[in-house]
Amino acid sequence: MKLVVIGGVAAGMSTAARARRLDESAEIIIFEKAHHVSFANCGLPYHIGGVIKERDRLLLQTPESLKASLNLDVRTSHEVIKIDAKKKSVRVRNLETGKEFSESYDKLAYCPGAEALRPPIDGIDLEGVYSLRRIGDMDKIKALIDGELSKKVAGERGDVKAVVVGAGYIGLEMAENLAHIGVEATVVELSDQILPPIDKEMSIPVENHLRSRGIGLHLSTAAAAIRQADGGLKVELNSGEVLDADVVIMSAGVRPSTALAKAAGVELAEHGGIKVNANMQTSIPDIYAAGDVVETPHTVLPGEYLAPLAGPSNRQGRVVGENVTGRKTTYKSTQGTSIVKVFDMVAGGTGATEKQLQRLELPYHKVHIHPSGHAGYYPGTSTMHIKLLFDKKGKILGAQACGFDGVDKRLDVLATALRGGMSVYDLEDMELSYAPPFGSAKDPVNMAGFVASNLLRGDIKLWYSEDYPSATEGKQLVDVRTKDEYDIWHIPGAINVPLDQIREASKEWDKSKPVRLYCGVGFRSYLAYRALVQTGFKDVATLSGGSTTFRYYHEFTTETEAIPTPVLNYAETESLFKKPAVATGLNVDIDCTGLACPGPIMKLSEQMQQLSAGDEITITVSDPGFAADGPAWASRNGHELVAMEPAGSGFKATFRKGGVGALAGAQSRAAVSQKPKTSFVVFSGDLDKLIAAFIIANGAVSMGEEVSMFFTFWGLNSLRKKNPPRRQKKMMEKMFGAMMPTGPDELKLSQMHMAGAGTAMIKNVMKQHNVNTLPQLMQSAKESGVRMIACTMTMDLLGMAPSDLMDDIEFGGVASFLGEAAESHTTLFI
Ligand code: FAD
Repeated sequence: MKLVVIGGVAAGMSTAARARRLDESAEIIIFEKAHHVSFANCGLPYHIGGVIKERDRLLLQTPESLKASLNLDVRTSHEVIKIDAKKKSVRVRNLETGKEFSESYDKLAYCPGAEALRPPIDGIDLEGVYSLRRIGDMDKIKALIDGELSKKVAGERGDVKAVVVGAGYIGLEMAENLAHIGVEATVVELSDQILPPIDKEMSIPVENHLRSRGIGLHLSTAAAAIRQADGGLKVELNSGEVLDADVVIMSAGVRPSTALAKAAGVELAEHGGIKVNANMQTSIPDIYAAGDVVETPHTVLPGEYLAPLAGPSNRQGRVVGENVTGRKTTYKSTQGTSIVKVFDMVAGGTGATEKQLQRLELPYHKVHIHPSGHAGYYPGTSTMHIKLLFDKKGKILGAQACGFDGVDKRLDVLATALRGGMSVYDLEDMELSYAPPFGSAKDPVNMAGFVASNLLRGDIKLWYSEDYPSATEGKQLVDVRTKDEYDIWHIPGAINVPLDQIREASKEWDKSKPVRLYCGVGFRSYLAYRALVQTGFKDVATLSGGSTTFRYYHEFTTETEAIPTPVLNYAETESLFKKPAVATGLNVDIDCTGLACPGPIMKLSEQMQQLSAGDEITITVSDPGFAADGPAWASRNGHELVAMEPAGSGFKATFRKGGVGALAGAQSRAAVSQKPKTSFVVFSGDLDKLIAAFIIANGAVSMGEEVSMFFTFWGLNSLRKKNPPRRQKKMMEKMFGAMMPTGPDELKLSQMHMAGAGTAMIKNVMKQHNVNTLPQLMQSAKESGVRMIACTMTMDLLGMAPSDLMDDIEFGGVASFLGEAAESHTTLFI
């Protein structure tokens, strides 16, 4: 038997090696057009990033080693240019000599892989624009970047920049590896999420992590053109932005290399790949195909799919090797199990995604859980996010996971369970290895099984983040977390009844009124759920995945800052005092690694109570959510976030205690200013109250006083611009923005509003009595030096940005107000 293989990497080499092991007498020739065979393409990004130091380690075999070990005839730099299926021969070009010749075959294995997609945009063929598929691509990219980096080291140029087009697995691996070697990388992605093979809410933690590690990200954006510029490239985005780049990496997906087979009459399948039967045989019986070029059945979904992954390619090659040597084995299906490392984070999935199930209108159930990678008390763990999809009988349809430690093994257990046709009830029974460094006695996989089984057995009823706000309308929305957690952030409209008070508090509630519960991850609200339904509440449901999943659905980061800018920092620098308290030099270290939210905040709060103003706490956390929670807690409590930097899966942050220190600051300032002062807290957004406030404020300034007005909550509406500059808004910001009045002209009377008639009447009466309008009063207050300070903490809550508010407004936190109030002889709350 004479076997000819086209393509000498994953599928091709697996075919050839397996065929040899089963048939010692076969003649086996492999044509590979590149210079190398059997190389590790999955390792290419890591050599560019210097993680895999020696290039040779990617070259797993050579033609010589394959000749010696398997007696294979491997011919590199030989491109097959035609298949003649009738004559059973291939036409081959030696790329080094240019000579062509024909080679006959008994069986042909077609394994040419896939080609990188190169979108038809201007400048795609410019020098410096690359795709990463082969060793040669890697060499070119590495040479260019290393050259530019050495110029930078020599002081001959500034930062080296790269633009990566496509936020799939390879794109993100490239971004990470470029960052490792000091290249400023920006990723541009057409879709509204990174990692298109997983569901969007599961991609958000990774997206946040990517940004926190300094990678720029432009989602829902296309690279429109690439231009040559002085000493580099300019990538024009369809958003109008232009990015500088020394190198552009195109990783916008792949297309199966079907041209030769198609020309020979081989049938293609629905998505443009080669159609094969279970023996990996094409429509022409002596031609087999495997790898990125074929479509195979999906393990869960109906139909055939392309799945450009190394595992399936190798396994398919093995099946071809068996079939061409006479063993009738079958390739069953591909479930698309995949995984990626993005800095310290890991994400992946197996089976169907929710997007796919929805597209095909297949029925499914889902749960989200957020367990720790291993026992929280053993160092080095963090929150992991798991999403499990299953049918009404519990059969597993798909699973996704992301997090830091132990994500890979959970994904693999779930992939195995899916492949074995197991159900969520089987996950409950799984006995998995456990000791504190590796897991928990109830492993995350068991936990996913427990929650999913509870749902199917009717022990819990869930409501889902994407159904907010309609899912909570007309219902009592109850946050069962602690007050501290609720104060940092809660779902608009929720009341706070901590779990330990729910039994007592619910005695007063109407049991026929629907209750929608939530907590941080879904566990405390499950306990509350059980308590309520067993005491007669008729319609109770708890939020799947709790506020953690909710925030990923509704509050994902859209900005490109590295770490979320702490509100208090910018508030205070723009405001009264650079620092609310002078550092005393005392610094307490606390280690909260392994603690999930609210653990770190509670520890911080407890410890802070024992310190004096100006003392500092340096806290180390592994919970990535602390990036938002820590600064919000500090801002709310009048403390200062001094510094925050990434540390492992989480952050290391230093907070300085505020309070009395702020007063001390205020006093020193008061010593400079001898004028009497009046300060206002403008809480209300009612027209009449605002008019009264500004009349008093203008009066006070005219009497020689200093006046500061601190606008918080609804009072902020009076400062809103009618037509602020456009900016990207989160869903919640859009909702608040649409519901609230924009500026002084839109405010209404607190009483006798009478569908607008009262408001119009008062404006008319004011005109008749020559009283200035509210906008005029505000203008004159501003001109006479009244300081208007917008509360940044409330702005954050209501989703307002500085650009939404009038010009010449100051921004401040609680400490700013306390400082002003301390100096004032009168403080008015409007
Ligand atoms: P390939 O491995 O691409 O091999 C096809 C070969 O055929 C090529 O060498 C090509 O030169 C040759 N060829 C094509 N046409 C001809 C012709 N006419 N004549 C002669 N030779 C020809 N998958 C994962 O599962 N996990 C990962 O982490 C992962 N990381 C990756 C990282 C990178 C940078 C890349 C490029 C891919 C990665 N993949 C990963 C995908 C995985 O490598 C592929 O799915 C797998 O290699 C496909 O195997 P294949 O044999 O079908 O194609």
